Amino acid sequence: MSKFVYMFDEGNSEMKELLGGKGANLAEMTRIGLPVPYGFTISTEVCNSYYDMGKSIPTEIEFQILDALHRLEEKTGKKFGDPVNPLLVSVRSGAVFSMPGMMDTVLNLGMNDETVKGMAKLTNNPRFAYDSYRRFIQMFSDVVLEIDGFYFEQFLEEIREQKGYSSDPEMTADDWQEVIKGYKDIVKKHARKDFPQNPKEQLFLSVHAVFDSWNNQRAIVYRRLQRIPGHLGTAVNIQSMVFGNMGNDSGTGVAFTRNPSSGERKLYGEYLINAQGEDVVAGIRTPKPISTLQDEMPEVYEQFVETYQLLEGHYRDMQDIEFTVERGKLFILQTRAGKRTAQAAIRIAVELVEEQVISKKEALLRVDPDQLNQLLHRRIDDSYERKPLAKGLPASPGAATGQVVFDADEAELLAKEGKQVILVRPETTPDDIHGMVAAQATVTSRGGMTSHAAVVARGMGKACICGCELLKIDLKTKQFKVGDVVVVNQGDMITVDGSTGEIMLGEIPMIEPQLSDEFQLLLTWADEERELGVRANADNPEDAKKALEFGAAGIGLCRTEHMFMDATRIPIVQEMILAETYGEREAALKKLLPMQQGDFEGIFEAMWGNPVTIRLLDPPLHEFLPDKEELLVEVTKLQMSDSDSDELKEKEQLLRKVRQLHEFNPMLGHRGCRLGMIHPEIYVMQAKAIFYAIANVKEKGIEVKPEIMIPLVGHVNELKEMRELVMKASLQVAAETGQQYDYSIGTMIEIPRAALTADQIAREADFFSFGTNDLTQTTFGYSRDDAEGKFLQSYIESKVLPENPFAILDQEGVGKLVEMGVKLGRQTKPGLKTGICGEHGGEKSSIQFCYDAGLDYVSCSPYRVPLARLAAAQATIKNKQEQETNELQAQI
Ligand code: ADP
Ligand code: MG
Ligand code: MG
Repeated sequence: MSKFVYMFDEGNSEMKELLGGKGANLAEMTRIGLPVPYGFTISTEVCNSYYDMGKSIPTEIEFQILDALHRLEEKTGKKFGDPVNPLLVSVRSGAVFSMPGMMDTVLNLGMNDETVKGMAKLTNNPRFAYDSYRRFIQMFSDVVLEIDGFYFEQFLEEIREQKGYSSDPEMTADDWQEVIKGYKDIVKKHARKDFPQNPKEQLFLSVHAVFDSWNNQRAIVYRRLQRIPGHLGTAVNIQSMVFGNMGNDSGTGVAFTRNPSSGERKLYGEYLINAQGEDVVAGIRTPKPISTLQDEMPEVYEQFVETYQLLEGHYRDMQDIEFTVERGKLFILQTRAGKRTAQAAIRIAVELVEEQVISKKEALLRVDPDQLNQLLHRRIDDSYERKPLAKGLPASPGAATGQVVFDADEAELLAKEGKQVILVRPETTPDDIHGMVAAQATVTSRGGMTSHAAVVARGMGKACICGCELLKIDLKTKQFKVGDVVVVNQGDMITVDGSTGEIMLGEIPMIEPQLSDEFQLLLTWADEERELGVRANADNPEDAKKALEFGAAGIGLCRTEHMFMDATRIPIVQEMILAETYGEREAALKKLLPMQQGDFEGIFEAMWGNPVTIRLLDPPLHEFLPDKEELLVEVTKLQMSDSDSDELKEKEQLLRKVRQLHEFNPMLGHRGCRLGMIHPEIYVMQAKAIFYAIANVKEKGIEVKPEIMIPLVGHVNELKEMRELVMKASLQVAAETGQQYDYSIGTMIEIPRAALTADQIAREADFFSFGTNDLTQTTFGYSRDDAEGKFLQSYIESKVLPENPFAILDQEGVGKLVEMGVKLGRQTKPGLKTGICGEHGGEKSSIQFCYDAGLDYVSCSPYRVPLARLAAAQATIKNKQEQETNELQAQI
């Protein structure tokens, strides 16, 4: 029979998969001699058996659990259910990847009408004993019996009012006994049975409930968000209780070994005196900062400092630690790698290298590229003079503007309509998570920096302000007040700054982001490691400058159509399209040429000798003409009012042309190089504009490395013809200017046929750039807009497709074409340069794929360049690590 239950001294931190993160770390801390209340862990495998067996635990495993319980009794010298010296335990969930607050925990288990008396006598503190018992009934009813906590809170409130108390500490032992009686009635009414008195029954029911909580709604949402697979299951930890609610020499708290928001190396935490477990995170009372513990309990504080330093050193990373003080004695209840913002992740990684705790390679692996876009968000303009309404705790950085909403469901609804909202709540619970996902930012009036809202917001990289007690929130009237004067209603705009905790009325000017020094440093380390080039997609000088600033080594895609959309140009472009004769068309193109030339000069200058890949015109011409339906309406109106005006004639001609250019399927229609084939004069104009631009820029002493790219090639003959056309244009311009040009001509590979015949196409190409947006469309046979608008979401939800292939490269299908394209292309031309310029070039798993496929570079939007540099470094490091283990295994 295999082993399914492990005592805390039988495990270690390497056993996360089996024991869950919490269990493995409890075992590790026990192993290194920290004061951890003893207990045992039921492995994650049991969670899977539980579901396989139709939600029951196999008998053999039940025996193992009872056996472990027995050992726990021996170790603690207490007995489960014993009326004199009862063992009380917590039943705690704990998955492989931490899911804070998403699953359930029951505390004080083992209490009943008898053991409570024993506890009262033993501790000589009846008030504490009855308080613990009522907490247990409340928690057990919520988690196991699924009775809404509201009934208990309401009843407690009634009793408090009757007695004329304003807070719980005023309650006496007798009062709590009265509460317990009422609580039991509530249980009987809603569960239709008595509150279970048998501790073993309580225990097994709770273990079941923890397994059930693996699949509760919020846990499922959280897993989807964090991409945690559902088959992993949760472990269950059974641990003997320690009590932070035994009086003023007791308490409970949470601490991070460094600031999880900024990364600053400074202990950062909160605690509550005379409180139990969840009280701190629940945000019911706003806790005290850890620094005051130094005054309140100096010895405990000193011991805690020693412990946290030991834990951080041991795990070589920032830790998030739960602790409880029972009558002046410190206990550690949990440690884990602390969740942190991107800003903090970078600072901590860089500083750990400086402190010689980790290597540069480890530091690079510590930062998740997906997190980085948080840092590239806009922030409030420094020069703006702020007039904050109120100030709370800066729980998660970032600035955001949106309408105030007071309810998670409403936040979700409004966000679906495209509105930007800010969720404002007294506090948040795990049930509000969908609202936080939908909102730009979250504000709470209660709770500290380790409250639920704060932890979740930091995990999502969204701005959050907590404990803003100045806000008097009224959920009924949907408004909040600041003092007695300012009233903010649902729907009003506010701006929040999560880095300072400030809340301001209305919209506020924002500025573009910059990279911090630590971020720059980390990226230079990434550049030392990576072997994959990173370029940017940029269509204008501003974007080109941004790209360089963020470390791009060139432009991988400059789309020329965007230059035509300019308001001053569109009439000339339309003139060109509408031209009836060759002469008319030439005249229009002559006007466009100097404008195009100017565009290219700007980009070449901005790029200072770095390569620039310019793609010739790609979209179908009708995109530059007005919409057919709108035109039709206009023409009809004109016809009715005045049947003979010039305007009418003009519009009619336009309509004729629009009809003529109409395509049944524009995505697969007359676009890309097919335009150049039928209207060569357009491509000739563009090519000449490029060469004139080179001549001018070179005269200023600036190097230029142009790469001219032909879109949508499916047959080698297309490329051959377009190549000749470009070369001819080059010779003509050379003859005029007397200059020689260095340039290359390549093609996009974005149609399956191009990938399949890449060996032929390579004969005419100096480089390939995989246009994975179109390649995904053409490989799947989806048009992106139709797919995303109509069926893709349902495909992903029902798991027909694992992901949106337009966001994450489909490696099995589209990827196979990329690999084939590279391989065949290099058969013909061994040194053929290859890159990718679809949106996938800025997505980490796709970047890893590009590296594995042997591509030379990825190209993505300027804002994703830092992400791509880091992801490219991680790809290299991971591959080298894999190689090393493979070599090692081969030696054995
Ligand atoms: P979560 O994963 O949601 O943080 P935990 O299992 O860590 O849930 O428990 C919730 C709270 O109860 C925490 O504050 C924890 O420290 C406290 N707690 C858990 N077990 C015990 C125990 N044996 N004695 C005292 N407090 C406990
Ligand atoms: Mg915890
Ligand atoms: Mg394309």
